[in-house]
Amino acid sequence: MPKGSVAVQAPRIVCPNCGNDSEFYEVADGVVLTTRYFQNEDGSFSADGDESEIHGEIRLFCGECHADLSQFHQRFREMLF
Ligand SMILES: [Zn+2]
Repeated sequence: MPKGSVAVQAPRIVCPNCGNDSEFYEVADGVVLTTRYFQNEDGSFSADGDESEIHGEIRLFCGECHADLSQFHQRFREMLF
């Protein structure tokens, strides 16, 4: 961002444990991955797409110290483009 910019920024998410504000990751609990297959005439199989269902909650973690930052998850989602 250029110096002197007055663009309004949303408050950045900062890890309260280590101060990291650049790297984060999400972990989804209870994910069911389903892969569909067709059996071909010759007995071989072809994949016909993947489906995933998330039954548990999705949590946000710090990419540096791996602290649980789920308290920021809603804001993280709102700022995800
Ligand atoms: Zn951290």
